[in-house]
Amino acid sequence: MRILATNDDGIYAPGLWCLVRALTQVGEVVVVAPDREQSGVGTSVTLHHPVRVRDIRSPVRRVRCYAIEGTPADSVILALGVLLDDKVDLVVSGINEGPNLGSDVLISGTVSAALQGYLQGIPSIAISVGAMENIHFDGAARLAAVMARMIEAKALPREILLNINLPNLPQDQIQGIEITQLGHKSYGDEIKERHYGARRLFWIVRGRLELEPEEGWELEEGTDIWALLRNRISITPLHSDLTSAAALSTLKQLSNAIFQDLGKPPE
Ligand code: MN
Repeated sequence: MRILATNDDGIYAPGLWCLVRALTQVGEVVVVAPDREQSGVGTSVTLHHPVRVRDIRSPVRRVRCYAIEGTPADSVILALGVLLDDKVDLVVSGINEGPNLGSDVLISGTVSAALQGYLQGIPSIAISVGAMENIHFDGAARLAAVMARMIEAKALPREILLNINLPNLPQDQIQGIEITQLGHKSYGDEIKERHYGARRLFWIVRGRLELEPEEGWELEEGTDIWALLRNRISITPLHSDLTSAAALSTLKQLSNAIFQDLGKPPE
C-alpha cells in the first residue's frame, strides 16, 4: 500500500518522522509536508502566489520526501495532484504536537491535511498527542500503523476521515480507546495590541484547548475531550457535512418570510 505522510508542524518535526518510521512497516511511504510550522492555519490553500517544492533528503531510507513552501492543504493537493503520479491508498497527517479536539478541528492544519485526502476519496487519518512537550510519539506511531493495516485489509469503509488523539502517556498507562464525537468546546483567539509611533499593530494569538477541566465546564460524556481527560485514546470519525439539522428546519419555516422581506422597499 502507498501512504502519503504529512503534517502541520513542518517537515523537520520529530512527530512526522516517528510516524514515517512506523508506516514504512506497512507500506511505501512518501512525505510531502510544509517546509515550516503551519499549525492552526486550518484549510487555508495558497492561491495568490506560486508554491515552491523542494526535494529533501529523507532521514528514513527508501522514503521520498518533498518540502512545500505552503500550507498542509497545499501539501496534500500537490502530492495527490502532481508529485505522486501513482495512486495513494492512505493519507496520514501528524503526529501533531498538541491535541486537536472539539471545534478546534476546524482550525487544525493537521486535520485539514487529512480532510484534503478525504475530499479526494482517499481514506485519511489525522493523529495528535495531547501535550506540547515531552511527547510520547511511540504509541501514536504504532496506532497509526495498526489503523493503516486495517485500512489495507478493507476493514473500514473507504470513505473515512479519522481524527485520533492520544493522551501523552507511556503505553502501559493508557486506559483504553473510545470512539467519540467532537466536543463542543473551543478556545477563542486573544488579540494583543501594540503601538509603534502612530502605527497600531495587532497580533492574533491562537487559543489552545487546555486539557484541564475548569469551573463551570460541563464535560460531555462520549466526546473526544472526555476521552482524553480519562487518559484514553479518542478516535472520532468525521465527515465534511457541516449542515445543521436543527437550524435547517427553523430556517425552512422562515424562508418565505425572508423572501417577502427581501421584496419590501427599504424603510
Ligand atoms: Mn501542529
